[in-house]
Amino acid sequence: MLAEIITIGDELLIGQTVDTNSAWLGAELAKIGVTVYQVTSIPDERARILQALANAESRVQLVLMTGGLGPTTDDITKPTLCEYFNTTLERNTAVLQEIEGFFTRAGLPLLEVNRQQADLPKACTVLRNSRGTASGMWFEQNDTVFVSMPGVPHEMKGIMQDEVFERVAQRFDRPAIVHRTIMTQGQGESFIAQRIADWAEALPGKGIKLAYLPGPGQVRIRLSASGPDEAALTRVVDEEKDALVALIPDIVYGFDNTPLWQVVGDLLVANNATVSTAESCTGGTIAQLLTQRPGSSAFFQGGVVAYANEVKMNLLGVTQADLEAYGAVSQAVVEQMARGARKALGTTYAVATSGVAGPDGGSEEKPVGTVWMAVAGPDGVESVVKTFSRSRERNIQRATLCVLDMLRKKIQG
Ligand code: AMP
Ligand code: MG
Repeated sequence: MLAEIITIGDELLIGQTVDTNSAWLGAELAKIGVTVYQVTSIPDERARILQALANAESRVQLVLMTGGLGPTTDDITKPTLCEYFNTTLERNTAVLQEIEGFFTRAGLPLLEVNRQQADLPKACTVLRNSRGTASGMWFEQNDTVFVSMPGVPHEMKGIMQDEVFERVAQRFDRPAIVHRTIMTQGQGESFIAQRIADWAEALPGKGIKLAYLPGPGQVRIRLSASGPDEAALTRVVDEEKDALVALIPDIVYGFDNTPLWQVVGDLLVANNATVSTAESCTGGTIAQLLTQRPGSSAFFQGGVVAYANEVKMNLLGVTQADLEAYGAVSQAVVEQMARGARKALGTTYAVATSGVAGPDGGSEEKPVGTVWMAVAGPDGVESVVKTFSRSRERNIQRATLCVLDMLRKKIQG
């Protein structure tokens, strides 16, 4: 069964708003066995909306649209839908009451443009928006279902969850789809592809698709299969997942889009252990990631952003002699930073980074992208040096993930 996503809004075409709605809808549709045929972003223009609707109707069974339902004059999706479905607006009293309640609770006056949000096409089934004032709409025409929702991501998700998924499940027969995503850290996709080439070659014969999703320092590998029997698919895909992990155990840190900080946080909690950070070139990014996890106070004690040499010396106990002899970006210094943080903050583990993030500051011996990383624990300190890239942003990301993965391996022994 095929679907299409149409996102409407001038802001999407000039890069002022990133179209996250399509990404979210695509991911959710994949989970329920709906194949997305095409994603289209178009401006708030009547003719373009009409054309996109007609194109979609000719090729798919489900069209999900977002945007253009606001109360202001730049939003024209609703009248355009009326034109397309040859219907007119009528005031929906139940929706009007909800809008009135919404404004009363917020202590705001109700304007006529807000009341007009209760004017909805006669030909649609109204989809309740529990998070805002623009209702969703469900239309059917020539065996195609059209769903129109507001552009605000949080409202769109609410309507999908409260009103749309269940209706889609009732309305359409869909194959089962099983996805497994293997999360890796520390090796580029071409190297991984080479390591798993023989195994990968046999996958199409087993009805399994393989995809590489590279990001800074990380590659997600997705296995998917679809068919009538979900239990059988799950068995086959899980078998291949296990086979894959056995081929690259050194770089797999988790599954199914679980971020590394989550895996590390879970491990620290499970081991009743704590961590602190001593960050130079990563500037607090490691601490920021570790504290993404709800309940991080159970394991994250604190950190020192030790940019200046004085801070490295005074707060972390790095010696002036080593700073002078080896420089701040060195094994001696990064190891002292990790040991110093572990001691000063009284934690089981500590991680440290010191590098040349760039774009300036590189030398022949230590080019931009050179980063020393260390992990200190009960059994001593370990460190590595990497030469990442010329991009400051990517160097910070990659160093952060690399040292978190070192910590993961250290905790796992
Ligand atoms: P609208 O329903 O057109 O009034 O959209 C309201 C707001 O939602 C816009 O100002 C955008 O910030 C946001 N928005 C609209 N479309 C999208 C989209 N496809 N992805 C993410 N945000 C969006
Ligand atoms: Mg808009």
